[in-house]
Amino acid sequence: MTTSSPVGLPGLPARVEVYEVGPRDGLQNEKAVVPVEVKAEFVQRLLAAGLTTVELTSFVPARWVPQLADAEELLALLGDLPGRHPVLVPTEKGLARALEAGVREIAVFASATETFAQKNLNRTVAASLDMFEPVVRRARDEGLAVRGYVSMCFGDPWEGEVPLTQVADVAVRLHEMGCTEVSLGDTIGVGTPGQVKALVELLPSRGLPVGALAVHFHDTYGQALANTLVALQCGVSTVDASAGGLGGCPYAGSATGNLATEDLVWQLHGLGIETGVDLASLVRTSTWMAEQLGRPSPSRTVAALAG
Ligand code: MG
Repeated sequence: MTTSSPVGLPGLPARVEVYEVGPRDGLQNEKAVVPVEVKAEFVQRLLAAGLTTVELTSFVPARWVPQLADAEELLALLGDLPGRHPVLVPTEKGLARALEAGVREIAVFASATETFAQKNLNRTVAASLDMFEPVVRRARDEGLAVRGYVSMCFGDPWEGEVPLTQVADVAVRLHEMGCTEVSLGDTIGVGTPGQVKALVELLPSRGLPVGALAVHFHDTYGQALANTLVALQCGVSTVDASAGGLGGCPYAGSATGNLATEDLVWQLHGLGIETGVDLASLVRTSTWMAEQLGRPSPSRTVAALAG
C-alpha cells in the first residue's frame, strides 16, 4: 500500500476519540452467537490495536439479546482493562449486575421515535426515559460515567422523517438527567450531511454542549463518512464505529450497518487527525473476526488492506 502524506482541513479537531462498538452493537446484530473466549480475544486485540474506548457488552435479560447473554463471564475473563469500557444497561436490575461486575461506565439506549421505543423497549419514549432516569441517577451517584444513545435521529423505518425538535427533546432530556455523553444515532443510515449539521448545531442552543456529543452513523446509503466529516467540522470529536463494520441493522433491509472503524481511521489519519489506532493491526483483527463469523468484512478499507 502506498499513501500520500496527511493533509488537514480547517476547523477539525487534532484528535478524535474512536468509540468502538463492535463487541456490543456489532455482535448483538450478527446472527451467529460468538463463544465468550472469542469475544474476549476480540476485545484484547482491539485494545492492542490502540483503541482506548470499547463498549463491551450489554446487561440485558438474556431473552432480549441471546448474543450477549454472557456479559458477566466476558467481564470476568477480561479482568481489569485500561481505558473506557462502557456496557449497555437498560434497567436498575441491569445496573446492579454491572456494578457487581465492576463496571465503571454504562450506556442507556433511548429512541427518538415512538415506534422504535415500542419495538425495542416495549414502552413509549416518555416511559422509557422515565425508566432510565433512576438508572442514570444511581450510576452517577456511584461515580460512573453514563452515555445516552438516541436512536433513529435522522429517520425511522415506520415513521419516516423524524422532526429535529423531537430528536433534540430526547437528547436534551438524557443530558439533563445526568448523561455525560449523548450519542446521536442514524440507526438506519438514511441521514445526509446537511441534516447532521442542522441537528448538531441545534443542540448547544438547547443547553447540550457539542463537547458532550458523539455521532453514530450507519453506512446503509454510503453516507457515514460524509456525515462524520460534517460532524467533526461542527465540533464533535467522539465518533462511534464498529471494527470491520460488524453488525447489520435488523430494521434496515441492507447488509451494511455500522460505519467500519477501519474506514473511519483511514479518513482521520489522512486528515492528520490523531486516533492512537494502529490501522494494520486493526485490519488483522477484523480479518480474524470475519473468519470466526464465516463471512467477509463489509469494510472497504479492510478489503483494500487485508492480505
Ligand atoms: Mg449501530
